[in-house]
Formats: sequence, C-alpha cells, structure tokens
Amino acid sequence: MALVCVICRMIISGIIVLKKGKEISLQRFHPWLFSGAIQKMEGLVNDGVWVEVRDANNKTLGFGHYQNGSIAVRMLTFDSVTPDESFYTKKLAQALSLRASAYLPSMHTNCFRLVHGEGDGLTGLVIDYYDGVAIVQAHSTGMHADREAITAGLQAVLKDKLKAVYYKSQGTLPGKIRDEKSDGYLFGMTSVPHIVKEHDQKFLIDWESGQKTGFFLDQRENRKLLADFSRNKKVLNTFCYTGGFSVYALHAGAATVHSVDSSEKAVELTRKNIELNGFDTQQHECFAMDTFDFLKDKKDQYDVIILDPPAFAKHRDAKHQAMKGYQRLNAEAMKMIKSGGIIFTFSCSQVIDRKLFYDTVTSAAIQAGRDIKVLSHLCQPADHPVSIFHPEGEYLKGLVLSVV
Ligand code: SAH
Repeated sequence: MALVCVICRMIISGIIVLKKGKEISLQRFHPWLFSGAIQKMEGLVNDGVWVEVRDANNKTLGFGHYQNGSIAVRMLTFDSVTPDESFYTKKLAQALSLRASAYLPSMHTNCFRLVHGEGDGLTGLVIDYYDGVAIVQAHSTGMHADREAITAGLQAVLKDKLKAVYYKSQGTLPGKIRDEKSDGYLFGMTSVPHIVKEHDQKFLIDWESGQKTGFFLDQRENRKLLADFSRNKKVLNTFCYTGGFSVYALHAGAATVHSVDSSEKAVELTRKNIELNGFDTQQHECFAMDTFDFLKDKKDQYDVIILDPPAFAKHRDAKHQAMKGYQRLNAEAMKMIKSGGIIFTFSCSQVIDRKLFYDTVTSAAIQAGRDIKVLSHLCQPADHPVSIFHPEGEYLKGLVLSVV
C-alpha cells in the first residue's frame, strides 16, 4: 500500500504506529525514533523510504525516513501535514536565512556550513558551501535516496550563487549503499582545488580527495580568537590538516609557526595555504609526523600550542580509551610549553561531553603538575547549530588555557 499524494508528489511508502506512551520524545521534537518504540508497520517500509508516524491512537505525529536499525525513523516533520515536493527547498531556505542572520556569507567569508543535520531539522544531512560549490554529505539511506531532490532544492534557493553540487557520502553511509560508489557531481562541475576566503584568509579546498568535505569549517571563530594570542609568539599547531590555525597565527604576526600532521598530504596542503596567503616561508615549518612523537623533545620552545586532534572516540564503546588519549595529549603539551604559555585544546568527539572533557583536561593538569587557568570555553560556530531538543548535536568543545 503506497500512499501517493497526487498534488505534491511526495511518496509516503508506509505507516509506523507507536506503542502507547512512546510519542513523548517526538512531541518534544527529538528527531530520532528508536525501533523499540514501534508497535506495528504497514505498507512498504524499506530502508530510505518516507514513512508516516502515528501514535497508538492513530494520530499522525509527523513524517521521516525509515532505516532498519536502532534509530528506525529519522523524523523530518512534526505535524500531520504530508510534506510536499517543496520540502527541501523550504528547509534549505530556512537554513540559508539562519546563516544570513549570523552574517554568512560576508565580504570576508565565503564558505560556511549550510546544513548541520538535526540542528537544521534535516537529520542525516550535512551540506558545506565553498564559494559557489555545495558539498552534500548523506549520513542516512533516506538522504541518499533524496539526493536529487536536495540538489533541486539547492538550485532553487542558491540560484546563481550555485555553480556545482558534489556528492560525498562514501565515508558516511551505511555499508550496503556505501558500496554503490555514488560520489561525484550532481550538478555542474568545477576543478579542485578551489580557493575560498575565511575571515579574509585564503584556503585551497579539495573536496574530491580531502578529508570530510575538504575543510574544517567548524574552527572558523576559534582560529580568529587564536590570532589575539599569537602576535610575536612561537606557535605550534598540532593536527594541523590544511593549516587553518597556522595561517591565522602568521597573519596576526606570530614570530614562527610550526605545523604538525601525521599525513603527508595534509602537510602539503598546509604548505600551499601558507604560500597562497603570501607569508614568509622562513617563519613557517611543516612536520609530517605523529604529534606525540613530535612533542617528546620540545620542552620550553613554544608560547602557544594548538591541540585539535581527530575524534578519539567515534562510538560510546571507545569513550574510556579516548579519555586516556586526551589526557595524555594535554599532559604532554602542558609539561613542555613555556611558562606563561597558552594552550588551545579541543575535542570533537560527540560522546565526550563538555564536562567530561573539562574533567579530562583537569586530570592532565594534575599529571603535568603545572598551575593552569581557564581563559575561555570554546564551541562550534553559529553555522553548526544545535537543536535544544537534540543535545547530541553539540560535538566541538575547547578550552583556552594559560599555563603558569
Ligand atoms: N585543526 C585542523 C583540523 C584537524 S583534523 C583544522 O583547523 O582544519 C585532524 C588531523 O589530525 C588530520 O589532518 C589527521 O591527519 C591528523 N592526525 C591524526 N592523528 C594524528 C597524529 N597522531 N599526529 C598528528 N596528526 C594526526
């Protein structure tokens, strides 16, 4: 039984009826419906289809994407109105307007995150915008199935501000569809690397072969803050990737900047970005090596250190191991930084919450035996919004520390 809405053409393939009392989280706009809440399923309920969700009394609660697993439905609406074909256009227009309220894009910045999953009411979808090019990343089968509709929505809202749409979901989709190898251009085409501007600093973006969508947009405001601490300082940027923090530090007048990443490719990207911004290469040096090894014999050499490692814990099971990793990394940096030095330390592991990260950094300080003051608490920027009903959307946390 496929219910087709003739006027609007959005196909709702099946109906999911919840057990009594299981509607509460949906009434609070939490977008994940867990499989244990389901009483029965009717119609065609396959991975990636749109379904209607009803409470035990058959009242419609909303619509979303079905996917067999612990999160059975990713909710995309929370009312009884059947979504029509303008669904993605409307949602993308809202997302764009939210960015405009945060002054994105601007004369100084032409790259930003346009869609941040649940924070934009589009669970399972991430879209990063790089001056005319949208990189679409699906995290669910439903968003994968809807990629053409999403592209049409992007064309409708961005108009001549959209030159190309690149689909990059190989690393984020569940196994079966990941094998389809569907990455590539959905609209237009443009060569990489592509140059963007972030707070007037230039960066080369390669979404085709780079990590994630090619750049870490979430550190934009933290990089800007680093500039305030960098003048005339010896700065060490560990886990540098494309060298974002390094470029800002040099722009602010750092005496020297050293950038470290275990990936040769990342180090090469950093080098190119330093050149692109016209900095004196005498002031900057790159090291393709493991951060832990690099830190070993560098006591009292740096005034400012940035620690921005990849997510040490991608799953709840890895939490304990991850905490040990953050503790060790922070303790090493605390031990070797100059007296009066500044550490920018981050965690982007969603399963390590703000309090746990703070406690882990505290235990690193105890281990290092240095007197430490907290100057700032850092987070993800406005183009990575968090729905108040979905606190799981908060993932980036950081601290600015002064080491006495
Ligand atoms: N700070 C960066 C983003 C960091 S992403 C920015 O502002 O854009 C994490 C980076 O850490 C990746 O480039 C990865 O190659 C690197 N990495 C992972 N493990 C590492 C290790 N043990 N030592 C050094 N770099 C590492």
